[in-house]
Amino acid sequence: MLKLFNSLSRKLEEFKPIKPKEVGLYTCGPTVYNYAHIGNLRTYLFEDFLRRILVYNGFKVNHVMNMTDVGHLSGDQDFGEDKMEKEGGDAAEIMTLAKKYTDAFLADIDKLNILRADVIAPATGNIVEQVELIKTLLEKRFAYETELAIYFDVARLADYPKLTNQKLSDMKVAARSDVIIDQNKKHPADFALWFKLAGRYKNHILRWPSPWGDGFPGWHIECSAMSRKYLGQPFDIHTGGVDHLFPHHPNEIAQSEAAFGVPLANYWLHGEHLLINDGRMAKSEGNFITLQTLIDREFNPLAFRYLALTTHYRSRLNWTWESLLGAKNALYNLYAQISVLEMAAGGAKEFEQAFEEAINDDLNTAQALAVVWDLIHSEEESSAKLASLLKFDQVLGLKFKEAWIAGRDIPAAIKQLVIEREGARAAKDFQKADELRRQIEAAGFTLEDTIDGWRLKKKF
Ligand code: AMP
Ligand code: ZN
Repeated sequence: MLKLFNSLSRKLEEFKPIKPKEVGLYTCGPTVYNYAHIGNLRTYLFEDFLRRILVYNGFKVNHVMNMTDVGHLSGDQDFGEDKMEKEGGDAAEIMTLAKKYTDAFLADIDKLNILRADVIAPATGNIVEQVELIKTLLEKRFAYETELAIYFDVARLADYPKLTNQKLSDMKVAARSDVIIDQNKKHPADFALWFKLAGRYKNHILRWPSPWGDGFPGWHIECSAMSRKYLGQPFDIHTGGVDHLFPHHPNEIAQSEAAFGVPLANYWLHGEHLLINDGRMAKSEGNFITLQTLIDREFNPLAFRYLALTTHYRSRLNWTWESLLGAKNALYNLYAQISVLEMAAGGAKEFEQAFEEAINDDLNTAQALAVVWDLIHSEEESSAKLASLLKFDQVLGLKFKEAWIAGRDIPAAIKQLVIEREGARAAKDFQKADELRRQIEAAGFTLEDTIDGWRLKKKF
């Protein structure tokens, strides 16, 4: 039985899909005005673990992800600059920038072995659906128009905002110098569905026609419109990082539920942040590290995947280079152990059960890794070990099969020396590691440490 922590009820719940054996999964995608940082990527890794665990449980997953390429303002609310327009340029240049960062994002997730969503769609490709949704909200009087924008009328919903402990009566818009409050808003928490080309956004470059004149959509409306278009309403699971607990997700819920009178999604899962020096890693803080920086320092991207697996998705993870190094050593050690296993056959049932219990306990990937290591060190048959490990890798995504294939043509005695050397390196006994390397070389092999682990070649 798969249990998930639902942010709506703040409880662990048994997962029950709407349709038997099928799951609709919606993931808020990146705002493509810059490279994704490894904090963002931690969230996409958690969502990948979730998706793979659903598949492991026999569900067919229909996964949808948006790309935010308009309307996400620097304040996350109704103030500040459109993040996409900060760099300047005309509409074509802004869209070229969006394409560049979308491609970079997709390349990053491929390197991390994150499965691409079945539908990956940009907000700017779905403006018609967003306009239609705003029309419905106006018709049903959940929205109103001022000279500057169309707003959602939060006071019309008894339970706004969902997912957060904040109360509507306590909510005030922060008194910051760059906050331009529309004096005609009915409530400070009312949020924009559509910005007109007026006031601060008079010269906004990205613009589309609408019944309220040319303008552009707010950030939240894209996800309401696109999730409904591709998954229907309600759908099963909606995910994002914890910063979406307010305002983005409560606003999505408000829009969709007000317009159609049914829940938007049944389960809401939120991943905790990656921290750097005890603060959130954020593009806007300028304290971020990209996957490319890790690669430039000769780290295999899968070492970062391993690191993400070691910490539960609902716990914060403090970024350090040392912890990445530890993850890399553990991963390479694992690869070395896997490379000596016999052809896969059968399976280690007890360990498979323990693995399943771990992943189905709200994605306890750290415990799942512990099961992997217990299996490696167990007395199980070599072929059974390999069979189970390859099965586990459907969830872990650490490319065990490649590690095994890489070691296939190497004599067992040499592989044993490599394992011992990995062990010595992990224990920081570099003298012993060097001595083992000499033995390997003396036996006629060259050992190279590469970004993907180690590579052994026969000397000729
Ligand atoms: P953005 O590109 O800012 O829209 O964010 C993309 C995703 O990354 C969202 O799901 C955010 O919740 C998530 N996110 C942003 N900062 C962090 C962080 N420091 N750690 C983990 N996830 C984050
Ligand atoms: Zn969203």
